[in-house]
Amino acid sequence: MNKYTTLFFDLDATLYTTSNGLWERIKERISLYMIERMGIPAAQVAGMRQDYYRKYGTTLAGLQRHYQVDPEEYLNYVHDIPLREYIAPNPKLREMLASLPQARWVFTNSDSNHVERVLSVLGISDLFDGVADVYALDFQVKPTPEAYRRTLAMAGNPAPESCVLFDDLVANIMGAKEMGLYTVLVNPNGSHPKADLQVRELLELPSKMPWLWR
Ligand SMILES: [Mg+2]
Repeated sequence: MNKYTTLFFDLDATLYTTSNGLWERIKERISLYMIERMGIPAAQVAGMRQDYYRKYGTTLAGLQRHYQVDPEEYLNYVHDIPLREYIAPNPKLREMLASLPQARWVFTNSDSNHVERVLSVLGISDLFDGVADVYALDFQVKPTPEAYRRTLAMAGNPAPESCVLFDDLVANIMGAKEMGLYTVLVNPNGSHPKADLQVRELLELPSKMPWLWR
């Protein structure tokens, strides 16, 4: 057995690839919420989202800090999407995940309702030991150090050095690295020197990280 005992997978744009348009659709719904529900001028939305994403990890975290917003209503609104128009069962991903000897967790800034719907469409709901979502994190989302601490605690406090985080966002990778986790950036474009490793998609793991199976 290798030294890695626990694998943490981000959900959006990690457990499914961005090319299917789902993540783009979620981002559109976020903008729409800000414009239609909150009355924020459309011209300001893109800049605000970028700013909040950078400063607080998610748009919601920024809106909570600067406005009155009902997080549950927000999360239901932005994820109100017919998922099957974007994603489909992924038997190859299922086979690969199921063959990994480590404990597997979903670690996401979104909510467990969205997680369960996505995992169910992908056909991988039964393959995870648990889900650390925005509610379990008590809204202290990645990349705040508290998010990693809480998630490690939920997973039974494995040593950070024995854990791997797979995530599509550089900020989340950097946060995990500071906590001592091994980090894998899942991103089809570009690269980042801060990640320990980069893959275009998770299906590359057997070729890029064969040692995970040893
Ligand atoms: Mg993501």
